[in-house]
Amino acid sequence: MTDCIFCKIANHDIPVKVVFEDDLCLAFPDINPQAPTHLLVIPKQHFANVTQAGDSLLGHVLKAAAGIAEKSLPGGFRIVINTGEDGGQTVDHLHLHLLGGRDMKWPPG
Ligand code: AMP
Ligand code: ZN
Repeated sequence: MTDCIFCKIANHDIPVKVVFEDDLCLAFPDINPQAPTHLLVIPKQHFANVTQAGDSLLGHVLKAAAGIAEKSLPGGFRIVINTGEDGGQTVDHLHLHLLGGRDMKWPPG
């Protein structure tokens, strides 16, 4: 997708601080952090949202996020996938938010 900002980040056309990268996914800091640690984990391939990607890729990006969290957030963390308008999704390229470094509230807003 040529006009998708996360595709541009995945292709390294827009520079970000890469926290983790492999063949299938990339993790980088959210530009508007909501917690001391707030990373986005995206598949390199474009999928509009979580309903569009297959089991294997979803498992891969989830394990990538959990692996980063396991190393860097021993106190716990939250992984969020906002989906659609009601879910608060603003970028239509599947992404996992990895949040940590503070006490998380429940229910989320
Ligand atoms: P969502 O609202 O769940 O779709 O999340 C999109 C997230 O992408 C928001 O938290 C934004 O702050 C973040 N974001 C948008 N553009 C960029 C960018 N260029 N670099 C890093 N994060 C971004
Ligand atoms: Zn995209």
